[in-house]
Amino acid sequence: MSLADARDRIQFGKPIASYQAVAHKLVDMQIMTDAARGLLYRSTSLLDHDEDCSSASAIAKIFATENNVRCADIGIQVMGGAGYSMDHLMQMFWRDSRVGPIGGGTNEILRNVVSKRIGLS
Ligand SMILES: Cc1cc2nc3c(=O)[nH]c(=O)nc-3n(C[C@H](O)[C@H](O)[C@H](O)COP(=O)(O)OP(=O)(O)OC[C@H]3O[C@@H](n4cnc5c(N)ncnc54)[C@H](O)[C@@H]3O)c2cc1C
Repeated sequence: MSLADARDRIQFGKPIASYQAVAHKLVDMQIMTDAARGLLYRSTSLLDHDEDCSSASAIAKIFATENNVRCADIGIQVMGGAGYSMDHLMQMFWRDSRVGPIGGGTNEILRNVVSKRIGLS
């Protein structure tokens, strides 16, 4: 949504997506999405092979949910006032993303799971 908006939104005579500072934000969002997907596939592949995926799935959940919050926040920033306004869904994505690190096992507890797996507790 923010990518489409950045392509359409003209400021100072150009689409804001053509400004490097904006493009880098969109690239960071792509990096976070690709990395989260990779961690998810690692976890599901372990599951498919009947291997222990508890640590890998905890890592995937922590990474995906925390970066989802970051992505939604960046999405608002890229859209400016429109992203914050109730006229667009981006503000809802930001609010909804916030439950990710809380639900389904809080990320603190999942860090405890990983901590045990690497022999820290
Ligand atoms: C919108 C929404 C939908 C939900 N849907 C469901 C659902 O469908 N099914 C369901 O079962 N639950 C659901 N939940 C509940 C959710 O799983 C809990 O909110 C979550 O497990 C955290 O429990 P709590 O809210 O009691 O927080 P608390 O357990 O009170 O924790 C508060 C904070 O302390 C931290 N903390 C607690 N203990 C430790 C510890 N030992 N070490 C480090 N940090 C710790 C937590 O990580 C958290 O940051 C939902 C919650 C929300 C907000």
